[in-house]
Amino acid sequence: MPKPFLLIKIILFLGLFSVSALGFAEQSDSEKADEIFKLLDNGTIEKNQTYQIYLAELDTLIPKTDIQRQLRLTRARCWAFDAFEEGQVSKALAFAEQALNNPNLANYPNDKLDLELCQTWYTEQDGDVDLALAGYNKAIAQAYALENLRLVADARGMRGYLHSYQGNFTQGLEDLLTSHSLYQSLALPAWSRTSLYEIATSYRRLGDQKSAIRYFKQLQNSYIKSNNLDSANATKVSIAIAEEESGNLERAKLLFEEGYRYWKTNNQELEQATVAVNIAGTLIQLGELEQASQYLNEAEPFILPTDEAFYSFLHLFRAQIYLAHDQLPQAHKSIAYARAAFNRVKNLRGLAQLQMVESQIFLEESQWQQAYFALSEYVKMHNELDAKLLSSYTTEMRTRFNASQIEEENRHLIENQQLKELEVAMLEQNKRQQWIIIVLGSFLMLIISVFAYKQIQKNRLLSALALTDDLTQLPNRRYIYDKAQSRFEEAQSALLPLSVIVFDADYFKQINDKYGHEVGDQALVLLAETCRDLLPPEHKAARVGGEEFLILLVDTDMTQAYKIAKDLVQKVSESNFSAFPQGFTMTISAGVANLRAEDNKLSQLLKRADDALYHAKSEGRNQAKMS
Ligand code: GH3
Ligand code: MG
Ligand code: MG
Repeated sequence: MPKPFLLIKIILFLGLFSVSALGFAEQSDSEKADEIFKLLDNGTIEKNQTYQIYLAELDTLIPKTDIQRQLRLTRARCWAFDAFEEGQVSKALAFAEQALNNPNLANYPNDKLDLELCQTWYTEQDGDVDLALAGYNKAIAQAYALENLRLVADARGMRGYLHSYQGNFTQGLEDLLTSHSLYQSLALPAWSRTSLYEIATSYRRLGDQKSAIRYFKQLQNSYIKSNNLDSANATKVSIAIAEEESGNLERAKLLFEEGYRYWKTNNQELEQATVAVNIAGTLIQLGELEQASQYLNEAEPFILPTDEAFYSFLHLFRAQIYLAHDQLPQAHKSIAYARAAFNRVKNLRGLAQLQMVESQIFLEESQWQQAYFALSEYVKMHNELDAKLLSSYTTEMRTRFNASQIEEENRHLIENQQLKELEVAMLEQNKRQQWIIIVLGSFLMLIISVFAYKQIQKNRLLSALALTDDLTQLPNRRYIYDKAQSRFEEAQSALLPLSVIVFDADYFKQINDKYGHEVGDQALVLLAETCRDLLPPEHKAARVGGEEFLILLVDTDMTQAYKIAKDLVQKVSESNFSAFPQGFTMTISAGVANLRAEDNKLSQLLKRADDALYHAKSEGRNQAKMS
């Protein structure tokens, strides 16, 4: 029964299809994982225990077969190493190298690029600045080629930081401004703030305090808006430093004091101490030495030699106060502490300031030669700093000029990305429509198949009806003559025996007359049943006339056929007529003929059988005769 199987197959196919197409089972885990990725991406989670907990959760949510998310997890793991913790940088580098060996990355260029960027960043943390810079250059080119705005923003942000740190302010600012506006467009406020801080710091290093203050204020507002008051206060202190550097001492003092009070009310002692050092510097310049000294005393217990930036200035300021109070040996001692710390971090600006103070101490001691030497060192350093600043200023002008171009480029990039997103959305929709078409098409196919199946069955039934006798359910005349013709031809060419029996009910008119037509019909059915019982299936009996039948006997010679005919005649006469009216009997007469060499037409064979039947009738009926 092939047709029902086909139907079952179609139904199974549709069933499987809907389950896999909708994929309900995986949906929620994947969604959860994607949400965590989004959280890790937006840069608000610090690389501490929380980050590790998220990584562990991702590990349970993402099946090993989900290559895309597994790669995404590998990226998150790569960035998870805390560069400020002992030994983590080399671990990160080993991890990145291992991760980049994954052959799946060939199909996921964005994941590969992020891992390369991760490797480059830890290379920078490891101290290989040149290699890192080469890595950033390559990564930026690739990110543009992939039109991946997030990676452009990341890579340019990192390169900008490195450039700025190395004193290449033009390039640094160009990168940082690009990165900042991309982060803003990508709605990543935390990363946007990081780049804003770097921009402001770069301007400060460059000596453009006005621009620095402008960007710091932007950053401060952003922190206030997001209710991060600690960071807002830290930014206020940065503004105060920039104000001091641009000579606005009173304004700087005011801001420093505000910042100081904030840390004090929030019990953040270390932060409070660092601002105390800053205020002291401003107060010294304002000539308020007593107050400056108090702030330094308060800060000293919290500032360790490893906090070089504050430790160095703390001692430089102390030296200045000692100098003012004419405590020269103590001043020298403080100078020594400060110099060591400045040297450790190669702070040229701090060292220059220190030379100036030292020269004044020597002057006070009337040590002219040493005073002269210290002063000439100061001049040398100052010239060096000026030269650096001068070249920076010219490049700074270029940066300003470039800024509008950067904005323009960014807009193009973002527009491109929006177009691409639109395209992807349209493709997604197309995909959905394709699925709908496939599902509907399958249903249509199913319906058509059912109809086709029913039609075939109906046709079969019709053709069976056309070839079957209604009353006896035996094949009819048309069927048996067709069959007889082909058997006749086969037997002729294969030289096989073939026989036919023609039989006819005796005195059937009288049966009808005596018992009625219905009983006559019942008698015809009995004849058909007797044929079916007696004949093996390869032989076929058919009703060819009113009460006349033809039996086609394949591969049967005259002797065998005659025996069958005699059996049939006997069986009919000995039938169980209990279902018939009292006294009912019936007999038949039969004529038998077989295929002869001289036969060239079926009718010749049938004619001989008819003749034999006529012979049987005339010999008294209820018997079989051979032709
Ligand atoms: P015999 O063949 O022995 O010479 O006599 P007979 O009475 O059978 O003669 P004949 O063959 O001439 O008559 C056939 C009769 O069979 C005619 C008709 O009334 C009857 N008959 C034919 N078809 C049917 C049928 O489908 N049902 C019934 N009840 N009778 C039928
Ligand atoms: Mg008859
Ligand atoms: Mg007849």
